[in-house]
Amino acid sequence: MTAATPGVLAEVRRERERQEAKWGEQTLDPAVWLMVLGEEVGEANQAALEHLMGTRADLSHYREELVQVAAVAVRAIENLDRQQAAQVRTVQV
Ligand SMILES: [Mg+2]
Repeated sequence: MTAATPGVLAEVRRERERQEAKWGEQTLDPAVWLMVLGEEVGEANQAALEHLMGTRADLSHYREELVQVAAVAVRAIENLDRQQAAQVRTVQV
């Protein structure tokens, strides 16, 4: 960790909360989560490419997309943990 880490994680948390408010708690197949994550990675790629090609002046959009990538990864992990916990409860019943 660096001195910047808490601030970055706070941004990811705010984005995670924004996504939760927009989409609610989602239960998706892991393959679908990877598609959602891939879509966000694609947007980060596009923003970086636009900067590289000179059509976007700075990397602020690229940075925003990276925060979205991290927040979606957190959602996917939370979903997986919920699904696995539910499976354990089902087996124990
Ligand atoms: Mg995005």
